[in-house]
Amino acid sequence: MCHPELSEECIVAAPPNLREEGRLRVLQVLLASSTTSRPELVRLTGLSRATVSVLVSDLIAAGLVVEEIGANGAHGSEAEIRSMGRPALPLALNRSVAYAIGADIGHAHVRVALCDVHGTPVWETSEAKEVDRAPHETLDLAADLVRRAMTENGVPRERVLGLGVGIAAPVDADGALSAEGIMPGWTGIRPGPELEHRTGLPTEMTNDANAGALAEHMYGAGRDVEDMVYIRLSAGIGAGVIAAGALQLGAGGLAGEIGHLPAVRDGLVCRCGNRGCLETIASPVALARLLQDSWGEPVAPSDLPALLAAGTPGMARVVEDTGEAVGRALAALVTLLNPRLIVVGGDLAAIGEPLFEPLRRGIARSALPSAARQVAVVAGRLGSSAEVRGAAARVLARAAQTLAVMSGAETAEV
Ligand SMILES: [Zn+2]
Repeated sequence: MCHPELSEECIVAAPPNLREEGRLRVLQVLLASSTTSRPELVRLTGLSRATVSVLVSDLIAAGLVVEEIGANGAHGSEAEIRSMGRPALPLALNRSVAYAIGADIGHAHVRVALCDVHGTPVWETSEAKEVDRAPHETLDLAADLVRRAMTENGVPRERVLGLGVGIAAPVDADGALSAEGIMPGWTGIRPGPELEHRTGLPTEMTNDANAGALAEHMYGAGRDVEDMVYIRLSAGIGAGVIAAGALQLGAGGLAGEIGHLPAVRDGLVCRCGNRGCLETIASPVALARLLQDSWGEPVAPSDLPALLAAGTPGMARVVEDTGEAVGRALAALVTLLNPRLIVVGGDLAAIGEPLFEPLRRGIARSALPSAARQVAVVAGRLGSSAEVRGAAARVLARAAQTLAVMSGAETAEV
């Protein structure tokens, strides 16, 4: 058990499990900050100076922690530091000691990123892919990109803590998809075990908008905000809800499926089987289809920001109508959940204020006025990396425990 008053004698001469507990606390602090120091570790872990010193020596010997001496970034041995008597020297986790791989399987792409132990991407790539009706080809492609992430960066599989996958369908707490009506070819497929088999990595599944919400909350526009909604406006429209600092899944992983709120009475039939869902009028595909019908020439969803910038006739009106429709749908969430922040991500976020202004208007017109006044609408800061970073963060949530066990085994051998 973890006790703040755990004494020096208790840890240094402790049975391995108590020593591991102290190591875990030190690693948790190191994972949460880019650099720290022994005095900071003493303050934040509640352990004694001598205990922290011993544990840090163990972690340096095991190659998990480096000490930054001087501005040139050279590293020294623990014995050198002791003789110099400079206990406040910066300490940092060795960033290459472990990695997590994040993947984002959308309706029209597969993106993969290799992230260091702090969740920062060190390598990232994306390939276009029609995903919905080709599950096995998509899983093969994802596994290929995961292999490339390791080989092109010289990272052996043993250093990868796991693979986190965000996918464009609801995922329940056991990693099972609710693909019916969302990703039609994927019904009955369990992507987690399929990818574990293909990559040899423990794999954790999450919904893509939930992964984006986690990443913007941890690293992006929603840092320090405890109540927020992330909305992803891409080939599909989804939302991730963070309430009181925690991601909300709902009973079966379906929380936040805002793309299937009714937006138009007697509108188009949606892939989910209902009519007039938000997704039928506000996704990039729906916008491109409207313009294509009007102009009689092909329009790709990826063309939209450039068409708006060029002042193309009809484009400003389409964007305004979309913003208002998304705002009306978000108004329901604003009234129900009273978030402080709405973070807009996905392909349409690149349009910026011409979309956000009518979106805010839609919220102001339809939400409870006091809740509407308390919410800000901003663009995501992580762009198209949000989902892969959030998926990797799910894996990194277990990093302290894994590294504590790993370092315990290595120091036992030293
Ligand atoms: Zn629908």
